[in-house]
Amino acid sequence: MKWINHQIVTGFVVAAATDDALLTASAIVGSVIPDRVEGSPPRDSSAYWKWRSRHRTWSHYPLIYLALIGAAHFAKDYFPDATLALNLATGALVGALLHIAEDALCGKVPVFTPHRKHGLKLFKVGSWREYFVAALIIAACLFARFGNVDLLRSYFP
Ligand SMILES: [Zn+2]
Repeated sequence: MKWINHQIVTGFVVAAATDDALLTASAIVGSVIPDRVEGSPPRDSSAYWKWRSRHRTWSHYPLIYLALIGAAHFAKDYFPDATLALNLATGALVGALLHIAEDALCGKVPVFTPHRKHGLKLFKVGSWREYFVAALIIAACLFARFGNVDLLRSYFP
């Protein structure tokens, strides 16, 4: 998934789920962390394949982000003055987890171990299908947040 779609989809999912503007903003920032920590692909061919072999391994390993969320949660007890910063960090880490889930829709990501990957291939990155899937997720978020089930039932008795 392209970064812009990671950011938009993550923003809608977190906003619909939490109704929290600060958490949503930090999740949008965090939604590109797994790709950012990998760095850009090198232009040199041999360096590229070395980079490629590590693509979506440790950087996309959800347990690391879950462990960091747990650490941030416990740190709030010891550093109550840093609660805001730890909440922002948690939001960014949630964004990173959503990035991994979104990548699993267009390829494979690690789930249980960093080097065994699982996922679907619903679309190719940058294709019209990517934008269609992103639009479907956004529509589902909008419906979850503002949808009126009774109104929908009146159309489908
Ligand atoms: Zn990625």
